[in-house]
Amino acid sequence: MRTLLLTPGDIETAAELIRQGELVAVPTETVYGLAANALDTAAVNKIFTAKGRPQDNPLIVHISDRRRLPELVTHIPDDAVKLMDAFWPGALTMVFGAAACVPSAVTAGLPTVAVRFPGHPVMLELIKAAGVPLAAPSGNRSGLPSPTLAGHVLDDLDGKIAAVIDGGPCEIGVESTVLDMTGGTPCILRLGGVSRADIERVMGKSVTLDTHSEKPRSPGQKYRHYAPVKPLAAVSAPIRDERGIVVICPEEQAHLYSNAIIYGQLSQPETLARGLYAALREADKTDADRIVAVCPDGEAFDAVRDRLRRAEQEHTT
Ligand code: AMP
Ligand code: MG
Repeated sequence: MRTLLLTPGDIETAAELIRQGELVAVPTETVYGLAANALDTAAVNKIFTAKGRPQDNPLIVHISDRRRLPELVTHIPDDAVKLMDAFWPGALTMVFGAAACVPSAVTAGLPTVAVRFPGHPVMLELIKAAGVPLAAPSGNRSGLPSPTLAGHVLDDLDGKIAAVIDGGPCEIGVESTVLDMTGGTPCILRLGGVSRADIERVMGKSVTLDTHSEKPRSPGQKYRHYAPVKPLAAVSAPIRDERGIVVICPEEQAHLYSNAIIYGQLSQPETLARGLYAALREADKTDADRIVAVCPDGEAFDAVRDRLRRAEQEHTT
């Protein structure tokens, strides 16, 4: 298959491919997604094949209008309405009871479905033009760092998908926060673009955090994820420079290393999330033997630290 490189002006072409059951990679404000018609089982199955994704890892369904939510879910709790008012469109995914129309390929057979109303104009236009909700995990080969540029998608999936829409770099750079709304107290299953503190402020109460569950409810908990090919160690404070390492670090620390890749600035925590995956991919292309990533402690860096810890685990477990 030849993968078409499209621009945001080619939405109609992309929407037609989606309607025909093909896969289109598309920019969102978090990372690039690999989209298919969420209501078409055959199309959804192609996502798993193209990515090499385990079948029991469910997908997020993306909508462009809150009025489409009741068709996909069995119940919308009051807390969810508050959160939608505050964070949709945006980087918050919520898990609800799944309506019967949602294919089990999307939910991986779970009784629940994850739904997000993204904010990126290209993604929104694609959903509207296709006229269907889009199932879309990150557009990388399973296990590798998520793509934040169209070129990252092509590095992993060229020839395996119908098209990629180049919408430039992703603003947030890490995936959405996943919040389970099906229990009494909402539970964060994956840290991401919306912080725990902001969620708790809007709800006026605390939420629980379960990103290490023994019985994974969220793929981000279970699988090898976000990992570069070279061995990676994540540290919270600067280390001594060594031969053979490439250090991914904030700009303020780059002078400490002979082989540094800057992924953002400490003074602006959101820039570290934005630059993380591109830096991991770039580090893999160097001739260093291993990668050290420096990410400070502190809540502002929670999502980045979470991704680095999982990427690190890949090489130690
Ligand atoms: P990806 O888009 O590849 O980053 O992965 C999809 C994400 O969706 C996972 O990390 C999960 O956190 C989340 N997800 C999708 N469906 C469900 C579900 N039914 N229950 C819990 N989490 C889900
Ligand atoms: Mg992913």
